[in-house]
Amino acid sequence: MENAYSFKKKNNTNEIHIFEGKFTIDGCNANSESICKKMKSNDGEWLNNNTCLNEQQARENAAKIGKNVCGICVSHLYTTF
Ligand SMILES: [Zn+2]
Repeated sequence: MENAYSFKKKNNTNEIHIFEGKFTIDGCNANSESICKKMKSNDGEWLNNNTCLNEQQARENAAKIGKNVCGICVSHLYTTF
């Protein structure tokens, strides 16, 4: 199944990290750590309307948000395995 991507802002910073998960029947889930492993799920808040995105949407979203998005997390969106 396709991966789901959700964006979360770290508390007391402007850093935004991306969490990977899987789509589910009622939305998506997310791993307990960001892609870069620098942020835990309970270290911040989900960005409104920036959860449960597919890979293409996540790329567009990262481009729209700009430099506050963690570069390590973003680069993962462009990695093919
Ligand atoms: Zn990150």
